[in-house]
Amino acid sequence: MDKIQMKTPLVEMDGDEMTRILWQMIKEELLLPYIDLKTEYYDLGLKNRNDTDDQVTVDSANATKRLGVAVKCATITPNAARVEEYGLKEMWKSPNGTIRAILDGTVFRAPILVKGIVPYVSNWTKPITLARHAYGDVYKNVEIKVPGPGKAELVYTAADGTQIRETIHEFDGPGILQGIHNTEKSIASFARACFGYAVSTKQDLWFATKDTISKKYDHTFKDIFQEIYDAEYKKTFEELGITYFYTLIDDAVARVIRSEGGFIWACKNYDGDVMSDMVATAYGDLSMMTSVLVSPSGAYEYEAAHGTVQRHYYKYLKGEETSTNSIATIFAWTGALKKRGELDDLRELTAFGEKLERACIRTIEEGKMTKSLSLISTCKDPVILDSLGFIKAIRESLEKELQS
Ligand code: NAP
Ligand code: MG
Repeated sequence: MDKIQMKTPLVEMDGDEMTRILWQMIKEELLLPYIDLKTEYYDLGLKNRNDTDDQVTVDSANATKRLGVAVKCATITPNAARVEEYGLKEMWKSPNGTIRAILDGTVFRAPILVKGIVPYVSNWTKPITLARHAYGDVYKNVEIKVPGPGKAELVYTAADGTQIRETIHEFDGPGILQGIHNTEKSIASFARACFGYAVSTKQDLWFATKDTISKKYDHTFKDIFQEIYDAEYKKTFEELGITYFYTLIDDAVARVIRSEGGFIWACKNYDGDVMSDMVATAYGDLSMMTSVLVSPSGAYEYEAAHGTVQRHYYKYLKGEETSTNSIATIFAWTGALKKRGELDDLRELTAFGEKLERACIRTIEEGKMTKSLSLISTCKDPVILDSLGFIKAIRESLEKELQS
């Protein structure tokens, strides 16, 4: 069989630990035998981020802007323990945070549904796609540990020198302070990404904030969404028979649990961080969650929703058997290949991505899975495979898909 040709390279962002091991296996078993894979490679492994003073992360984000489609492996976000473990020059920032800030995009996460893995919330029969605003708020905060009595003020100085000043608190003892921000531009991009994604996937869009308490900050999110909806999307939504629904965040949580799924839930940055883990776990497993960052300029970065699976990596290093689920990382690749195929008008490439996704689902539905999947599957006699064995089983299913 001739290998499928590509036109534009994908931006390939390699990562850390167990997912870095899976990355190699996926390429060797599921991609390189079938595709003349073209990538622009960036090593976002922690050692190389440290060696390049994190320039490689910035370069990979800029390459994504230039080439339009990236695929990213999970990466370590350093903490104190990692600084020591890797002898880091400094505690480098989260690569995902850096990339999101440069692309000013929105992250859409959706569960991969397979027969035999039943959501904990029994009425969730359709996937809930979670859209997380990927800029600002607590992720771009400035904090002060207040040492003792004193007055804290919020001061804005305009370009012409005029000021707006508010008292935050008169401290009579030690405390804490946090300054957060967002921009109308980023909120508008977020809104457009969400409305656009709702239109392209023909799903309702839900959005929620705490505007009753945060009458300026959160209320601005609510207002911008409503203005953009009325001016740009209302007509299309009505034609498609889909709705835009706004409510308070606590009310949204209650309604989501009672729903049957099948909609996009847009969340502010922190709500999205928390709720995406809740939704993923309720659908079964974080390792069955797809994730894509979409920028307003139309760049896409695909990745798995889970981390580097550190605990499995240490077992792997000791030569012990691991059974790590590679599905979400494979879907990062298929998402990127399908998008590249769509943009470059390479139908074969898009079809390959679809077939590889079907092969993954088919493998699990036939009872071949990793340890963690077997724990949440209703399958009677699952065959539990190790990390490489599972990928090889997917390859067998892929061969069948390619022949049919
Ligand atoms: P994690 O890598 O998501 O793993 C947490 C646990 O979830 C694992 O120990 C494992 O449970 C289970 N798990 C996650 N993915 C799995 C998979 N594919 N197959 C099987 N089991 C899976 O989270 P973490 O241990 O908190 O974080 C490790 C590193 O990842 C951290 O350095 C963090 O900074 C980084 N991280 C990166 C990203 C990203 O790049 N997008 C996201 C989150 C975290 P058992 O051990 O019980 O089997
Ligand atoms: Mg999180």
